This record gives sequence, structure tokens and C-alpha cells, in this order.
Amino acid sequence: MLDKARLRIAMQKSGRLSDDSRALLARCGIKINLNQQRLIAYAENMPIDILRVRDDDIPGLVMDGVVDLGIIGENVLEEELLKRRSQGENPNYLTLRRLDFGGCRLSLATPVDFDYQGVECLNNTRIATSYPNLLKRYLDQKGIKFKSCLLNGSVEVAPRAGLADSICDLVSTGATLEANGLKEVEVIYRSKACLIQRDGDMETDKQALIDRLLTRIQGVIQARE
Ligand code: ATP
Ligand code: ZN
Repeated sequence: MLDKARLRIAMQKSGRLSDDSRALLARCGIKINLNQQRLIAYAENMPIDILRVRDDDIPGLVMDGVVDLGIIGENVLEEELLKRRSQGENPNYLTLRRLDFGGCRLSLATPVDFDYQGVECLNNTRIATSYPNLLKRYLDQKGIKFKSCLLNGSVEVAPRAGLADSICDLVSTGATLEANGLKEVEVIYRSKACLIQRDGDMETDKQALIDRLLTRIQGVIQARE
């Protein structure tokens, strides 16, 4: 059971952000045993509980005030923010620090043989993505109309499977695109991991602990620069 007096931090359970998130908390001096496959891990030496969840759940947990802090990719955070706004909500949170890991870009990619001459070429085509709101914001700004094909995985196979004309997906090296006969044609969003805090009043003790953690994180990141 979670104890309200303890600081709750949400991090990705397993995936591209989890090792770096775990290392960051460890370097802040938080002693936790994350080896067990548990949802909640309790810090041994500080009043902190770590919630280990899918990254997609982290922005909502912070925006809903269920956890105090979250470590999340800006791409997922911004997508959730736009999604909630489009549903008429006004979600709030504070960004405490951009972190120095989880770097990637959200890009448009077309089949290699597509004669891409600029984003206008995508007008009225179908684009497969897991980020419909970030994509829509970008293409709206350019005045481009598109149809989306929402996929939460295997986005890169959509053109070959005949599901879409192009894709909008995360890229780091480009190897996955190449392996699927695609080329990156436009970067629409650059992302890194960040540390966010829920909006609203924070108990004095918890805020003092957050401030201490933030000072340590600052030190850790500066030491690496
Ligand atoms: P989960 O099971 O938690 O939902 P996932 O499969 O959605 O995980 P991961 O692939 O682990 O997510 O990626 C998590 C985050 O890592 C991304 O949202 C992004 O911020 C960051 N990231 C960094 N590099 C890459 C990359 N090359 N491809 C995808 N994500 C990347
Ligand atoms: Zn995810």
C-alpha cells in the first residue's frame, strides 16, 4: 500500500528509459531494490516509493496527481497533453528538469522510392503513427490535411502492409527505418526525458525532499557534461 507521506515517483518499468531512470535515482542516493518484478518499490533510506509502470501511463499519473514526480519522454508527455486538451481538459504539471538521456526525434518517413519534394506531398494521404496529436499539430501548422492510421506498435511496417502511405514515428539511428524500406523526410519533434512534478500544493517535507533531489540531479548532470 502506498503511504501519502512518502514521495511517489513514477518511472518506466522496462524499456528505453528504465535503465537511465534507475541510474539517475541511484546517483541521487536513493537506495531501492528494483530487481523484483513489483509495481511498487520502497526506498530503504528515504521516504520515497517508486511506481514502475508503462511509460504511456506516467504523464496521466502526474496530471491526475496520483504520483508526485515522473520521469518521462517529452514526446509521450506532449502527446498526452495535446490529447487531454483536445478532450476539453486543462491538464497541469511542472517540468522540473530536462534530463540528459532518452534523446530521440519524431519524424515523418516515406517509402524510399517515394518522390518526396516537401511536406505538401503528404496532403490527403494516410499516415501511420502512435502520435496522432503531435502529428496533427505539426501538419495543421503547415496547412496539410491527412488521414491517420493509429498504431501503438509496428508502425514501420504499415506502408509495406498497405495500411498507410507514410509513417510518423520515433527515430534514433534510422536503422529500423532502413530495414523497412523507409527514409526519414522531416523531423517534427525533438525529445529527451524530463522530470515532472504534479501541480498543486505539496507537503512541506515532500517539497524539501524534491528540492534536495533536484540539487543532486543538477550535480549529476553537470558532472557528465
Ligand atoms: P512501454 O512498455 O513502457 O509502453 P514503449 O515500448 O512504449 O514502452 P520504449 O521503446 O521503451 O517505449 O521507449 C520509451 C521512450 O524512450 C520513448 O517514448 C522515447 O521518449 C525514448 N526513446 C529514445 N530513443 C528511442 C528510440 N530509438 N525509439 C523509441 N523511443 C526512444
Ligand atoms: Zn509506451
